[in-house]
Amino acid sequence: MKKVLIGGAWPYANSSLHLGHLAGLISGDVLARFHRQIGDDVIYVSGTDCHGTPITERAKKENISPKEIAEKYHKEFTEVFNKMGFSYDLYSKTESDYHKEKVKEIFRKLYDNGYIYEKEDDDIFCESCNKFVADRELKLICPNCGNETKGDQCDCGYVPTKEDLVNAVCADCGSKVTTKKNKNLYIALSKLQPRIEQYVEKNNVNWRKNAINETNKYLKEGLRDRAVTRNLDWGIEIPVEGFEDKRMYVWIDAVLGYLTDTMQVCEERGADWKDWWTEKDNNRMYMVHAKDNITFHTLILPGLLIGLEEGIKCPDRIVSAEYLNFNEQKFSKSKGIGLTILEALDRYNVDTLRFHLLRNGPETRDANFTEEEYIMTHNEITNKLGNFINRTLKFKGLANIPVAKIDEEVQKEIENKYNEIAEFMEKIEFRNATLKIIELLDFANKYYDERKPWVQAKEDIGEFNNTMFTCANLIANISNVIEPFMPGTAKKIRDYLKLESCTWEPIKLENEIVLDNIEPLFERM
Ligand SMILES: [Zn+2]
Ligand SMILES: [Zn+2]
Repeated sequence: MKKVLIGGAWPYANSSLHLGHLAGLISGDVLARFHRQIGDDVIYVSGTDCHGTPITERAKKENISPKEIAEKYHKEFTEVFNKMGFSYDLYSKTESDYHKEKVKEIFRKLYDNGYIYEKEDDDIFCESCNKFVADRELKLICPNCGNETKGDQCDCGYVPTKEDLVNAVCADCGSKVTTKKNKNLYIALSKLQPRIEQYVEKNNVNWRKNAINETNKYLKEGLRDRAVTRNLDWGIEIPVEGFEDKRMYVWIDAVLGYLTDTMQVCEERGADWKDWWTEKDNNRMYMVHAKDNITFHTLILPGLLIGLEEGIKCPDRIVSAEYLNFNEQKFSKSKGIGLTILEALDRYNVDTLRFHLLRNGPETRDANFTEEEYIMTHNEITNKLGNFINRTLKFKGLANIPVAKIDEEVQKEIENKYNEIAEFMEKIEFRNATLKIIELLDFANKYYDERKPWVQAKEDIGEFNNTMFTCANLIANISNVIEPFMPGTAKKIRDYLKLESCTWEPIKLENEIVLDNIEPLFERM
């Protein structure tokens, strides 16, 4: 039994989650369910990222407090993940007292260890607002495309330089900004670089290609020390004297959430969090996110953990998705492109949506979502899985399926599929795993068609019973292998067959099946 930690990226509490977010996060739930099935000791965590400038800006726009904005989206995200069947062991938020206290302790240790240090800089200041302004609180004409943009990044992809920003205007009041001496704390990533490199080299065999490339790009350029304090009043307080008027940079606080969540889960379970966060042969740590989040997980988080000097393990598996587009366009709330997850769930079946995103999602390259293609997947599952269950468990006039002989060839194929799918899960290749599931469904339907139970029912009741019991046994095993992908459907099948648990082992049914309360699992769209 392994100790497996799965960290799903922490969504940012400033707008609704859309299908693109879901496509990047769904792998985490698949891994969590699979590892539980094979008997591992799983902790699957995430939470809402409540801090940072986009949230304070949003709050200003809506004329409410940042706390209210964060709370509103935290509630919405919790609802989304529940409806999607995400099996988090803890879904918390960075505004929780537990998280804030632990993060302050970690920050202080990094400061005491000399990896967080003080430096004075010329920062951008607005005289008329009398405050330091963040990059995204600045407005300028993009030198690359000529459009007006915020100071953090232009829509065209250009990232303004310090020089561009000095010539920008304050987005709040429109005045020309100046610079002013400002004291900040920095994390010494340059000093940590050799040890981060060692970590990367040792672990990146289990990373997605995009994670390896992106990480090496930054390492090659040389890591630069980064400010970890901001001139904000929203966020985690700085546990260092002289910085009472500043707050912690949001990315430092959010990536530590995986650790603070694990600590909290372990306190509740009476377990030792170090079993998941120490370098050992029998543990494993997956980080699941989209490609724009890679370096936070492969450079920043490892930097913080290494700097603690406590032998804490860094993530060994990076599951970084590419992007999902919607009808060949980027998701954009302001332009009305794409569906939020809640909108999608009003129209679609949750399990076929999960399956579709895993089969056609951005696993190794950008992918595109269209409603037509989703409906094709939904109808395929309806035909292949829904109908197979219907024509077995709702066979006309049948009240029960008595115990009979299970076809050995079928059982062998079932065993093969467990192994084949497990191999793909181990390689984090979910698309290939879903293709194996489709193969098993095709196999089941072919078996049914060849056996012709509708003829056997009239001509040879013994063979008919063998066929039906073999099909029921197929359904039982299908419910096991689809559990990570379509957990709601798997649960319904278990209820129909009165199966108590779902494991990752071939089942052989041993009892008569009473066919009552069986409803079609899917409706064609
Ligand atoms: Zn101003
Ligand atoms: Zn531009």
